[in-house]
Amino acid sequence: MASVGVVRTAEEAVARVAYLSSDVVISVQQTLGQQSKYSAQLSSLSATKTKSVIAQADELPEIQKIRHSADPLLSVHDPARSGKFVSVTTTSSTLISSIPHLYKLTNVPVVLHVSMQSEEFPDYADITSIRQSGLIMVQSESLVDAQDMAVAAHALAIRSGKGVLHFFAGSAAPGSPILAVGEELLNEAYDKVKIRSYRVREGRATALYSDDGVKAETAELVPSASSTPAATETPATTTASTLAGILNGLSNSTNPSSVSSETPHSGASSRLSVSSASTIEPPTTTRSVTPDDIYKYAEDIFETIRITTSRSYKIFEYSGALDAKAAVFVFGSTTDLFRKAIAQAEAGEVYAKVGIISARVYRPWFGTRLPHALPKSVTKVAVLEQIKRKTTRWGPLFLDLLTCLKAEPSSTLSKSIVGYQLGYINVTTIQQALRGVVQNLRAESPVQNLQVGSLTAPASPSADLAQPEVETAYMRILNELFKERLHLANQIHSKNAGVAIDISASPEFGYGSLIARQEKRQAFLGKIEEVVKRSEFSTDVPEQSLSKWLFVANDPTKSVAAAEAVIKDLKADGSDLAAELLKDKSLFYKESQWLIGSDAWAFDLGNSGVHHVLSSGKNVNMLIIDSQPYSEKAAADAARRKKDIGLYAMNFGNAYVASVAVYSSYTQVLHAMIDADKFDGPSVVLAYLPYNKEDDSPLTILQETKKAVDIGYWPLYRWDPYGEDRGDLNFNLDSERIKDELKAFLKRDNHLSHLVRRHPEFSANLANSYGTEVRHQQKRKAKDSFNKLLEGLSGPPLTILYASDGGNAENLAKRLARRGKARGLKTIAMSMDDYPIEDLINEENLVCIVSTAGQGEFPQNGRSFWEAVKNSTDIDLANVNFSVFGLGDSHYWPRKEDKIYYNKPGKDLDKRLHDISGKRMVDLGLGNDQDPDAYQTAYAEWEPKVWRVLGVDNIEGLADEPPPITNEDIKSASNFLRGTILEGLADESTGAISASDAQLTKFHGTYMQDDRDVRDDRKAQGLEPAYSFMIRCRLPGGVATPEQYIKMDDISNTFSNHTLKLTTRQTFQFHGVLKRNLRNSMRAINKALMDTLAACGDVNRNVMCSSLPQNSAFQKETWAYSKKISEHLLPSTSAYHEIWIMDDNDVKAQVGGDAVQDFEPLYGPTYLPRKYKITIAIPPHNDTDVYAHDVGLIAIKSADGGLAGFNVLVGGGMGVTHNNKKTYPRTGSMFGFVTKDKIHLACEKIMLIQRDNGDRKNRKHARLKYTIDDMGVDVYKGKVEDLLGFKFEKPREFEFVSNIDTFGWIRDETRMNHFTMFIENGRIEDTPEWKMKTGIREIAKIHKGEFRLTGNQHMIISNVSDQELPRIKDLMTLYKLDNIQHTGLRLSSSACVAFPTCGLAMAESERYLPVLITKLESCLEEAGLRHDSIVMRMTGCPNGCARPWLAEVAFVGKAYGAYNMYLGGGYHGNRLNKLYRSSIKEEEILEILKPLFKRYALERFEGERFGDFVIRKGVIKPTMEGKRFHEDVAEAEEDDEE
Ligand code: SF4
Repeated sequence: MASVGVVRTAEEAVARVAYLSSDVVISVQQTLGQQSKYSAQLSSLSATKTKSVIAQADELPEIQKIRHSADPLLSVHDPARSGKFVSVTTTSSTLISSIPHLYKLTNVPVVLHVSMQSEEFPDYADITSIRQSGLIMVQSESLVDAQDMAVAAHALAIRSGKGVLHFFAGSAAPGSPILAVGEELLNEAYDKVKIRSYRVREGRATALYSDDGVKAETAELVPSASSTPAATETPATTTASTLAGILNGLSNSTNPSSVSSETPHSGASSRLSVSSASTIEPPTTTRSVTPDDIYKYAEDIFETIRITTSRSYKIFEYSGALDAKAAVFVFGSTTDLFRKAIAQAEAGEVYAKVGIISARVYRPWFGTRLPHALPKSVTKVAVLEQIKRKTTRWGPLFLDLLTCLKAEPSSTLSKSIVGYQLGYINVTTIQQALRGVVQNLRAESPVQNLQVGSLTAPASPSADLAQPEVETAYMRILNELFKERLHLANQIHSKNAGVAIDISASPEFGYGSLIARQEKRQAFLGKIEEVVKRSEFSTDVPEQSLSKWLFVANDPTKSVAAAEAVIKDLKADGSDLAAELLKDKSLFYKESQWLIGSDAWAFDLGNSGVHHVLSSGKNVNMLIIDSQPYSEKAAADAARRKKDIGLYAMNFGNAYVASVAVYSSYTQVLHAMIDADKFDGPSVVLAYLPYNKEDDSPLTILQETKKAVDIGYWPLYRWDPYGEDRGDLNFNLDSERIKDELKAFLKRDNHLSHLVRRHPEFSANLANSYGTEVRHQQKRKAKDSFNKLLEGLSGPPLTILYASDGGNAENLAKRLARRGKARGLKTIAMSMDDYPIEDLINEENLVCIVSTAGQGEFPQNGRSFWEAVKNSTDIDLANVNFSVFGLGDSHYWPRKEDKIYYNKPGKDLDKRLHDISGKRMVDLGLGNDQDPDAYQTAYAEWEPKVWRVLGVDNIEGLADEPPPITNEDIKSASNFLRGTILEGLADESTGAISASDAQLTKFHGTYMQDDRDVRDDRKAQGLEPAYSFMIRCRLPGGVATPEQYIKMDDISNTFSNHTLKLTTRQTFQFHGVLKRNLRNSMRAINKALMDTLAACGDVNRNVMCSSLPQNSAFQKETWAYSKKISEHLLPSTSAYHEIWIMDDNDVKAQVGGDAVQDFEPLYGPTYLPRKYKITIAIPPHNDTDVYAHDVGLIAIKSADGGLAGFNVLVGGGMGVTHNNKKTYPRTGSMFGFVTKDKIHLACEKIMLIQRDNGDRKNRKHARLKYTIDDMGVDVYKGKVEDLLGFKFEKPREFEFVSNIDTFGWIRDETRMNHFTMFIENGRIEDTPEWKMKTGIREIAKIHKGEFRLTGNQHMIISNVSDQELPRIKDLMTLYKLDNIQHTGLRLSSSACVAFPTCGLAMAESERYLPVLITKLESCLEEAGLRHDSIVMRMTGCPNGCARPWLAEVAFVGKAYGAYNMYLGGGYHGNRLNKLYRSSIKEEEILEILKPLFKRYALERFEGERFGDFVIRKGVIKPTMEGKRFHEDVAEAEEDDEE
């Protein structure tokens, strides 16, 4: 129950009534990020769980917030048609664009509460324009009025079953509060019977655009027509010609000259709107609601209000003298002002005895009642209409009054109705206005259409339209591309004197202004032609440049230079003529003219600016931003389809059309805008920018965009109707990945449209049901084929269903099926979602194996099955024996309250199958990752029970099961890494390669991945995952020439996702390469004299080297050893060359590395047990994390400053598995010093010991770090020394000061300059905000030195000579590449790729760490830590590609949005960190870190690093060696739940 408090504004009062009277309130807002004048009240009622007075059971009203530009009234339909009472709170500025919906709301009890805009001086044209919509219209003015009329509006809607529009003058500022209306009034006024009957009415249509024939009806018994007063009073004989006659008469008396040119069209339609002229239906028990019914309802409701509140209202309200001779009819926001002025008038005042009348109910127009509302003495009526911009000669209200008063047989008002345009009036001008009105009214020949008051009013701040911040992405591109040539016609906030801001932002206004602008320029051209002939300049220079300009004036590009030359010459000339021309200097540019629109334009194209522009054929460009997220769209009713502006425009045949999405392809947006600008005719660029709220993160927008583009909801294309005339294509589909699917869709669509044409009764939803049916048939077919296969077997049947995300449940199910078959059972195994659910009741023995996803959810391939089983009411498993085995991790969610998620799907399924009468043959089995052998422990007990129950446990002579295929098998059978890669590449039926080839291609430097952002959606669409490949280059020491860099940039643009990734191991990585582009990419890399051989796989990978050339000669000498080691340990197989480089004709193609023989002297046919990584660090910078690699080499200087050799660390490594304590990160153990000439041999021998002793059975235990711990450091070292034939020397002295990069310029001893650029997380890309990629390319074009990649994913522009320096610096400034003014935390941060491409990612990393840092930065600023370096790293999974275990603060992904947090790493990368908290989300991360940073700022010792501080303060224990990583963690683990 809503407590009766106070309300301060009309909007507040109205919102409260709307909430209390509705099931659904649509709150229309300028932006979703800010409250509207209604929404604060709505939110507060919702927050206090206030119920509405019409609520069903315990349901609370639903508040739907919708942007004003998102066609808000569309949202009314679904709830309204499903029997809900819906109200809308909005402003009058949405009405015109909602016209297409209004008439559809006539026969549903929807209430639209509309506050008039602008608040200071509303324009009632917004109301008169929609007066024919069929809605009942009620108006109010003051706060009290607005509250009462809000109640009346809802009561009317309920009683009549019709849509009601309540319009009221809004509140510019809160006024004196009034008591909020009590619920007793609402209960009294609302007809409960009608409410119930509306809710249960059956047969409502669901389609929006079909006429479902629903009419508002009343069930009252109707007396005979003759007894209905209104019917008898209806001026049914008044015709259009009568009205024309009246108007002619009027015109004759006032302005004879204009009569013949006036078509009384508006008058005629106005007459038709006289609702009481409607034919009365014959009396039946149910009949349509008539205007007379509405009149009666309104009177009843007003009476109820009077009884409850003592406030009285009438349909027409008259005040003033009862013997008044003249009356003023006011239609606007100042009726009260007029009333008061007359009431206070002194006796002699000209208007003292004038009456005021207004219509409380504006539609239906009860004109026949009006004469009865006026005193008989009134002979003259002034009609004041507050309409700012008149479009017809006679005002709509004037015509309404004229019709009814003149038609009144006893009318004394002949020739005495005078229309006025009512402007802005306030208390200081009201008297003068009234005098003017009355004097004119009393004149012998009153002037019609006199203006009263000013047509402009003080600006109202609340009328400001906001452009959502996110939408500026496209504006920036337009600005960037067209610079001074850009002209935005209807940009919000543009200066359009005298025009309301909502109008100036409308398409129609923009279009009109563009046409005017084009005409103006045309005239300007003519003027220049004249001027050139006249020779009136001071010199003849301007004439010459103007002549030149005239030649290119209409060329968008050439006119820029010519315009600039002209402007310069005119300025220099100084003559009057020059000054005059300069006033219009913008016209010298051939403008790129754009109209900016929203997706709301799509709803009624025929009436919108889009249509006008297209049909005009003018050279106008439209940028239409669609912001509806794909997910929202997908979730919405399919029938609510917006019209496709693209197709609409293409059908016109004269327009350029492009569909673009900045978060999918930035380059395509550029192309489309440039094309549109060049196109001589209308252009439509549909731009996608999906967001729910204005403050949505770019990541959310990016993910929504990708889903929409990938699934084909938002295809990227460009259409030029004249493309073929120029030998190009008309249609370019730019979203390549869906090309085939789109083709298939188009074919299907064609087929369906034929079908629909033949059988119009089929709905447009046929497409949906078609897809569903196909999927169903596929399931059926798969099951039938299985059954066929089983026909030969004689044992009892066993059906095994699995749901699995990671593959464990699937593998168990398949193994169980193999074993079942071996025991003679008729066994089938399939994923739950592939199983036809209707067969379930016929099963005999059913086994379900299900793993746990997310927060206790079913895995993706079991969700539909579970929904069906859970919700079905007709599945009876009385004849089915079942058992369920679940897989989970009892420690995955450490908090007690989250324990319920442990094995939840398994438990739920077991219970449900039992509830629907299934017989449990074996109790639920629960596999737990925490058990000694993980889930296998429980499984080993559970499986024999199944065989026992089925009577097949003691079968003699069971054949041995084939062992599973391991990576070792794949390697040894691969013929030196060939496998069937070539065949897989040739297979065009899939974007993937086989699983075993996917293992082998890693050795060639490429991983198969799929786009995780769209995985679920594609699956739901029945598509294979969006496969693509990551390619990693081999680049020892991370050094590339500018030429090589440009080639990398080209490859990224041509074959990958237009970005370049600099990795944590100093190389270039490409993402999103499609299978068909894989070979071409590899060849292009080869042409850049690089390769990808051994960049991944179980071999020695890219060898790293500190890249900062502080001591240039020493760095150079050391770097040469990284190259030498890399080449020394390169695999020798020629498979790489064969598969990727050699073409059919050219056997001589050469790879950068020299791999020509099929013999692996170092590796042998099975290569290494796992990857092998080597890095070199040059003290004092540990910028390659020397402790984190299998082999870490610390470069040691000789006495002469040259390279003496290296201290060798062995056994570092990062990857672990969550909750598996047998896995841990490890820092390398010091073996000792080796001279430089033998270092490649030392690396080789260390590798050989690992090759022969590493664990080849368990890949989680196969890295060198485990071999060395299992064997003992000294033993390992001894074996290496045996192979080397010499001992490691004592390690030499060295000192590290940090493991981060040194940003900014440095100058080396050879006077060359080097700049370390900050490239956040190594991603080089262009965005609308920052053209970083373009900038680096521009530098590469002129740079003569090198680019060096760092181990922290940044880049050094290296070896810049002093001569080169100014140009490079200029470019850096131009492209903002010299910005290193970030916080110390950001500069010291690093994240791995993770989503969307990494298949192992459990959480975001590269896309999220920058966001998290931003949220921490204010706290760092406050604490005075802005410049303090704190090493923070994040990875999406515990594989640890960004080496998180060495950071002072680290986050490792556990599940989407949840991370394990680690603290206490050594600042120099020398000490591992330790687990501080498990599975925490952003909120908790901030809660922990903010106070900790503050403490650090206050309590640290001089120079103490954060990692050391948290240990000293006892926040975390130090990790002294890898084996102790899991000990003494900060968070005590909870006991198992059971
Ligand atoms: S750490 Fe994990 S999520 Fe990140 S890139 Fe490496 S494997 Fe992928």
